[in-house]
Amino acid sequence: MINAAQENARMLASILGLAEDEAAARLEQTILVTSDAQCAGWAREISELLERTVNVTFDPAVNTQVELIVGDVQPRSNSRCLYASIDEQGASVTTQPQKRKGDAPPLFAAIAAASVAAAALAAVIDDPALPSVSLPHALDFNQLGVPMAALDRQYDLSGSVLIGAGAVAHGFVRALRHLRVLGELPIVDPKTVGGGNPNRCLYLDETDVGKNKSQALAQRAQKDFDQLRLLPFVEEYRSYAKRVGPTRTAIVTVDSRRARRSIQSELPGRVLDASTTDIQAVIVHSHKQPNPHACLACIYKHIPDEFAREQAIAEGLGVSLDMVREAFITPEAASLISRHQPGRDPQQWVGMAYDSLFKQLCGEQALRTPEGKQVLAPFAFVSMLAGALLVCEFLRSENSAASTNYWAVNPWGTPISRVRRLRGRISDCEFCSRPEVDAAALELWG
Ligand SMILES: [Zn+2]
Repeated sequence: MINAAQENARMLASILGLAEDEAAARLEQTILVTSDAQCAGWAREISELLERTVNVTFDPAVNTQVELIVGDVQPRSNSRCLYASIDEQGASVTTQPQKRKGDAPPLFAAIAAASVAAAALAAVIDDPALPSVSLPHALDFNQLGVPMAALDRQYDLSGSVLIGAGAVAHGFVRALRHLRVLGELPIVDPKTVGGGNPNRCLYLDETDVGKNKSQALAQRAQKDFDQLRLLPFVEEYRSYAKRVGPTRTAIVTVDSRRARRSIQSELPGRVLDASTTDIQAVIVHSHKQPNPHACLACIYKHIPDEFAREQAIAEGLGVSLDMVREAFITPEAASLISRHQPGRDPQQWVGMAYDSLFKQLCGEQALRTPEGKQVLAPFAFVSMLAGALLVCEFLRSENSAASTNYWAVNPWGTPISRVRRLRGRISDCEFCSRPEVDAAALELWG
């Protein structure tokens, strides 16, 4: 089974055009973290993101390549230094000591942690093929578009459903702990935790591999919430919605375009969605019904790449295209796959995502193709950023601050408010171009 370190190495190998073992060696670097007392909590948050990808130490005796200085404190090594600091207005990463000193709202500090992690990783991996981080790197919290008063309110999440319990869901729940939330939040995911998942699912470690994803997330994260109950459901959203009825707020964190279109077809009253495109982009989308603008199926319309990926997986594993489109492996599919994999127990694959098994069995060569590349998983900081921006979108929606429905953010840069867009419907959308949709939305949610 592929492990967390291999998952990272494969991602980096693909970006840098290296063999997997060369990429793995690049990730064997160590960052020394030094912080002052005031920034200790923030430094820990940054370290938690970094240590899913490279080595992190707080011990100056260890041989390190980069020292990350968090707050107002002197370096402890002769390594190349990066300085991170934060206050109420924003956060910065620079190559020289700097002046910011203050307390940021915890949700914003979590987003800033992802920015600092990006800069530190770029410094330690140090390769021109990696997306560039230009220093000084400054994050202005105003760009997040969240009114300050929204951070202090209390929110009842009852009526919302968190769909998907993968890395973006982990980022979402992890960022959500910084708000005052109560009620019940169902977490719906039919899949099991794959060996590579702990590289980016922040609540998980190796001991969670093989557990149901929704149960593992609910169980691990519950300690962060006194008044919010996390309720796991091991099933597809489609079957959940059939049983429970229409969802008032769908918080969408699934990992495929097809799954998103399928969720849209259940006509949730409000959609809050975040996705990652390997390590290159984070996309945030939201809308409320009745919705005259782009829906989730407009944003994630069917594209040729998607078909090529499904076909590569179907051929690689020896199953039908329809099976791959079910997204996770059924007992029937597992027994088909085992015909090409003699001596292995097919039972172990039941409930896994096709992407994960494809990565595991088809390996390096398959991942070098454009189709194969699409199954690669991002680094932890990218998923965390997507989840935290999804919490911001929730706050914007709750506080009537969202007049746009689409935001693309470069995880190696900083969020830029003016690139938010209000996207219109596409005329051939498989969901909202159907004439009955608007009437149904009006009746259900109008
Ligand atoms: Zn649409």
